[in-house]
Amino acid sequence: MSEQKIRLILDKIKEYDRIVIFRHRRPDGDAVGSTKGLREILRISFPKKDIRLINCDYSDYVAFLGDEDEAQPDDFYRSALAIVLDTATAERISNPKYELCREIIKIDHHIVTQPYGDICWIEEERSSTCEMIVKFYDVLKRELEINKEAATYLFTGMVTDSGRFRYRDVSGETLRLAGCLLDLGVDTDIVYANLYMDPFDELKFKSHMLKKIKLTANGVAYMYIDRATQEKFGMSFEQASACVSYMDSIRDSLIWIAFVECADGSIRVRLRSRFVTVSPLAEKYNGGGHACAAGATVYSSAEMKKLLREADLRLREYKENNEGWL
Ligand code: AMP
Repeated sequence: MSEQKIRLILDKIKEYDRIVIFRHRRPDGDAVGSTKGLREILRISFPKKDIRLINCDYSDYVAFLGDEDEAQPDDFYRSALAIVLDTATAERISNPKYELCREIIKIDHHIVTQPYGDICWIEEERSSTCEMIVKFYDVLKRELEINKEAATYLFTGMVTDSGRFRYRDVSGETLRLAGCLLDLGVDTDIVYANLYMDPFDELKFKSHMLKKIKLTANGVAYMYIDRATQEKFGMSFEQASACVSYMDSIRDSLIWIAFVECADGSIRVRLRSRFVTVSPLAEKYNGGGHACAAGATVYSSAEMKKLLREADLRLREYKENNEGWL
């Protein structure tokens, strides 16, 4: 099934001289790694085609992977094929000019809530979109080229979206595909150092925020980071948002949530879980995502408390009806 889709996508790519690649807003390692990886594979495989990666926002977190391409006027897009990676809903696409393109291909591993695109290859059980791009290469390797640069982009996204290959959606194939990338010479020391070394001021922020973690009656861990705290510690919004991971190893706390105040007063919600599914909760609050990693937005502290109550109830029900969790 996926091989058929992959061949259909390659046929479509061959039809176009110009291809523009897109990803979601507030990009993470998978969004950046998959788009850069695909751009590199297509550029070296089809040197005569014009392959661009054009988005409207940026991520410090994976800035070490290098730049994207410059903005272009509307006319540039009209003859292009759009390939949108790692983006569940059209509304989350970083660059709204994707709509001007002649056709749209969507490749993603998120749960589908609002479909879009002329050709969709979606595999919710894949650990990352990067994994899908490596699969794409693997199926078509007689016709495509890859190099160490592309492998580094794709390996980075596979590592970040799978929590360093710890999450449940990591399969035998995930590791086999990651192994193909390592065979191409990815320097894992450099990748891991860039991803996981903390600047000293971030460590100070972490120690402050660890003291702010609270638990609901049934064990949902949560923290709220207001703008004043972000400013006091000199944290960018992206750095502050990373605090969700500070709560990921509390025994019995199977759901953990970071609420991060945005510049416009809205509150970004980052939900994470072990065993329990949290994506329906995110969908109720203007969001979506995966079973155990989802995002949402709330607009008041009353709404934040309501979401917390619902998360707590969900966790209580889970604990009452299941055994063997930690
Ligand atoms: P985040 O906490 O923003 O890293 O989001 C966790 C996962 O949920 C990522 O895979 C996001 O792409 C996805 N996600 C976040 N916000 C939304 C949203 N508003 N709609 C759909 N998916 C989302």
